[in-house]
Amino acid sequence: MNDHSFAFYGFAFFGIILARYFILAGGTHLFLYGVFNQSPLPAREDEINQRRLPPPWQSIRRDIKLSIVSSIVFALAAATIVSAYELGITRLYADVDRYPLWYLGVSYALAIILQDTYFYFVHRLFHHPLLFRWWHQGHHRSNQPTPWTSFAFDPPEAIVQSLFLVAIIFIIPLHLITVIAILITMTVWAVVNHLGIERLPINFPHHWCSRWFTGPAHHAIHHRHYALHYGLYFTFWDKQLGTQSPSYMDTAIDKKSPQVRT
Ligand SMILES: [Zn+2]
Ligand SMILES: [Zn+2]
Repeated sequence: MNDHSFAFYGFAFFGIILARYFILAGGTHLFLYGVFNQSPLPAREDEINQRRLPPPWQSIRRDIKLSIVSSIVFALAAATIVSAYELGITRLYADVDRYPLWYLGVSYALAIILQDTYFYFVHRLFHHPLLFRWWHQGHHRSNQPTPWTSFAFDPPEAIVQSLFLVAIIFIIPLHLITVIAILITMTVWAVVNHLGIERLPINFPHHWCSRWFTGPAHHAIHHRHYALHYGLYFTFWDKQLGTQSPSYMDTAIDKKSPQVRT
């Protein structure tokens, strides 16, 4: 990799991160509220009606403004990571033979689990009355989250979130491909969690596997009830620490009956 200045990386990453945001959030918005204003998946009738309503432009504009600011923070974090890598002071590696191949998968899973744990606890902290207003209120301005909300964070929250990646590259050996896989997971998951109300199959919360993952219905509850559903990728910590809504499981179909609950 040719060495460039920190400022060069900062500007380059800002452009990439912002383009990624507009393409992904804009594309998903068009998909949900534009030509494809219907979901092929079954859902309760009231939810179908609600999901067809496009979110107000006012809240989308607010989310976009905040996302541009947080993109600056994420770009600075990315520039820090690349500059530190070039100085040879991180545990990032490019030679795939340095560790066994299976380590790529294990290190990816470990990073995702650690990030989920980190996010759960700092997210609970953000909701402390002393911090909420300046650290996290921006993300909660949209009661009805949209793909545009996926990167809408107040600057202090964006800093705390990006600190995780900046720190982990000094702790766990990660291949560059693993870092890219983590970044793609973060990006896609952030958009999926902000699709609004139920967008996934209606039995998602009950399936033996998907019950362990958050999703649009899970995270939409957090945007309405601040004391519930702090998880990022997994429902594990919410289940363990009693912050999962009991009604979350009721919103889907009864396990024994194919009838949809009303
Ligand atoms: Zn929150
Ligand atoms: Zn959210």
